[in-house]
Amino acid sequence: MNLIIFGPQGSGKGTQADLLAEKYNLAHIETGQIFREIGRENSELGKKIKELNDHKEMIPDEITVDVIKNSLEKVSSQKGVILDSAPRTIGQIEPIEKMLQELNRPIDKAIYITLPYDESVARITKRYACTVCYRHFILGKHISGDEDPCPTCGGPVMQRGDDTPDGVAKRLKTFYEVTVPVIEKYREKGMLIEVDGNQSVEKVFEDIIEEF
Ligand SMILES: [Zn+2]
Repeated sequence: MNLIIFGPQGSGKGTQADLLAEKYNLAHIETGQIFREIGRENSELGKKIKELNDHKEMIPDEITVDVIKNSLEKVSSQKGVILDSAPRTIGQIEPIEKMLQELNRPIDKAIYITLPYDESVARITKRYACTVCYRHFILGKHISGDEDPCPTCGGPVMQRGDDTPDGVAKRLKTFYEVTVPVIEKYREKGMLIEVDGNQSVEKVFEDIIEEF
């Protein structure tokens, strides 16, 4: 089984993708995470991606498609995949679907986890990351204040650059203007499963698998 999962920031799509990956033996391909990793590499591509990320610019479609292809080729043919937020622009649909066809990985379903705008902002601005081990933490859950050390390695924690209120607003604007039209394409094709993300992790997961 091959899936795509969409949702605004804070919708918990990463968590749901991990749960689906475990239940259905899928590789979770998270482009945002892959780009952050490449951005820390001292390669040409790494420098370019870091610069785009620093300016909060979108990564050009052709780079995104290449990076996804590279990740997909490493996945064993015994496994399915779950693509996290890709394609995320109308322009990426065709090249990504063509590539998936060539790799013999047709998409079975696209999942959309919805969340009200204000709830996204409230959830995201509580997200912190360790500057040393890069693990993520929730303010008020794993750490009580931003002066607290990383619970795992003791390093200093900070809000991820794009998790500040301004950064969140910009990413949500991109999601609703650029990615929602992609989701609508999958709805038109009759492939969309839409689930209310403003519920517990367990309930959201139940609602998704009920639709398969
Ligand atoms: Zn740490």
